Amino acid sequence: MKLVILGAPGAGKGTQAGLIADRLGIPTISTGNLLRAAMQQGTQIGQKVHSYMESGKLVPDELVIDLVRERVGQSDCQKGYVLDGFPRTLPQAKALSSFAQIDAALSIEVSDEEIERRMEGRRICTKCQATYHVEDNPPKVAGVCDRCGGPLALREDDSREVVENRLHIYHEETEPVKEYYRQEGLLLAVRGQKKLADTTKLVFEALGISL
Ligand code: AMP
Repeated sequence: MKLVILGAPGAGKGTQAGLIADRLGIPTISTGNLLRAAMQQGTQIGQKVHSYMESGKLVPDELVIDLVRERVGQSDCQKGYVLDGFPRTLPQAKALSSFAQIDAALSIEVSDEEIERRMEGRRICTKCQATYHVEDNPPKVAGVCDRCGGPLALREDDSREVVENRLHIYHEETEPVKEYYRQEGLLLAVRGQKKLADTTKLVFEALGISL
């Protein structure tokens, strides 16, 4: 299955993408994680994208399109993949259609108010990039990743000012992508719930996968 997950920053795309991917035995491709890894490694791409990401702006289309095109061509993607955070603009969605046949685009719908609450409590593992929330999805030991034991931190772009900017960009640039998939007959929408497990139940139901 080739899936796209849509939703505002902090809607739970990464978490749900990870659960779906684990259940189906396919990889998650998160452009945010690929870009953050490139920055940590100090690659040429990493240096180029730093200023965009820091301020919550979108990285230029050509750059992420090339990154995803290359990634989906790798051997572990043959059975399918879950795209998290891509496409985020109409040109990205159209480019994706030119090199991949997507089976469904799942949108996780959450109000702006709730997004702001969630982003303040969000923590990310600085080693493996797993995500947590101090109230909604806490790690077993505060500040420590359950998966790899790495230290958890607030993401640089989760500060209030940057979050507001990212939400604005989401409404302007990414919401039209939803309409694109609606017209293609591929859009599935689920309302994000307070409790993670409740959202997961709705997501799996929408996709017709058993939990
Ligand atoms: P995320 O982890 O998905 O919230 O992405 C973090 C940041 O990475 C975004 O605010 C953008 O600066 C950049 N980014 C991730 N995915 C994309 C994309 N598909 N197009 C442009 N920029 C992206």
